[in-house]
Amino acid sequence: MRAVMALSGGMDSTGLLMRLLADGYKVDCISYEYGQKHNIELERAKANIEYLNQHGIDVIHSIVDLSSAMGIFESALLKGGEDIPEGHYEQDQMKATVVPNRNAIFASILYGYALSIALRENTNVVIALGVHSGDHAIYPDCRPEFYSALEHAFIEGNWDSEKVSFHLPYIEGDKELILRDASLAIGALNLDFDVVFANTNTSYNPDEFGRSSGTSGADVERILAFHAIGRKDPVQYVNSWEDVLESALRTEASHKDKQYLDRLSDLQYQVTRKSATEPAFSGMYWDEKRHGNYRCICCDHLLFESKSKYDSGCGWPSFHTEHESSGILRIADNSLGHSRVEVKCASCDAHLGHVFEDGPADFGGERYCINSASMEFEEE
Ligand SMILES: [Zn+2]
Repeated sequence: MRAVMALSGGMDSTGLLMRLLADGYKVDCISYEYGQKHNIELERAKANIEYLNQHGIDVIHSIVDLSSAMGIFESALLKGGEDIPEGHYEQDQMKATVVPNRNAIFASILYGYALSIALRENTNVVIALGVHSGDHAIYPDCRPEFYSALEHAFIEGNWDSEKVSFHLPYIEGDKELILRDASLAIGALNLDFDVVFANTNTSYNPDEFGRSSGTSGADVERILAFHAIGRKDPVQYVNSWEDVLESALRTEASHKDKQYLDRLSDLQYQVTRKSATEPAFSGMYWDEKRHGNYRCICCDHLLFESKSKYDSGCGWPSFHTEHESSGILRIADNSLGHSRVEVKCASCDAHLGHVFEDGPADFGGERYCINSASMEFEEE
């Protein structure tokens, strides 16, 4: 099995390389020098290839110099470009880090290389790329539609194109999935996870010693991915791991908050994110009697079924039992000078209401007193 791939020196392509090797592919890698400010990534890519060689894994690695062509492009990512924006990777200002037509150029070269190998070795070759859904918002040239159109054009424009195909295993996944998969592949190859990922760079603005800033959108996404799989990122940051993690979590929380503000009504936002209470007998569902499911307004998580709803007379939707899979969180709440138990969505932490001990005895004696504004009803 033959593969060629773009090894940027970042974590996505490095993870992909590990997966291909674990699956038994013979891999040729191309890294591109294109005038990027963070060309420390090329040194990291070389270090990983060397590490693989030391462990008896042979990977052919070429560094292709495109800096004279792409050096005249305009992007914050390129030397001479404006400063790298900071913040969440899905925010609009991250568009400054797009390099015009970059992936079309990279994929074009890979296709020519793959076809050359296919003819020379008389074999089929896959072009493997570590693109993933986290890149879709800001980078149109990481989306599935783009690669499908590109492949179509390459097939039209080449002889023997049946020997070459694209392989994008993470296109619908995210950085967390890539790390989890890389961890399995690295285990299968008997390599060291921390060595492999210390030999990568994701930061768009590393300092002069090659340490990641932790502040560019790409950094934040990477830090959250390591956090999600319960590991410390082995790459060096300007600040301690604890500090960069805290700051990435803050960036993520404020990004989510902006999304809730955009998407929810004022009342829904105040109730779910600020623990407000809607006036009694005012909500959409206190008198709702149809059959169906009640889901979290913020994240769609299933909370209650209509069969556990009953008329308590309190003016808010009342349920005696939560859905068996909802896992609603219970938190002591002393905000009104007496103790109550607040209930929150297990999946997104949305405030839902409170649970009291005056429910129907036949069903366990509890009453979930829930704000209509925190739920969406779905009729069956
Ligand atoms: Zn939720």
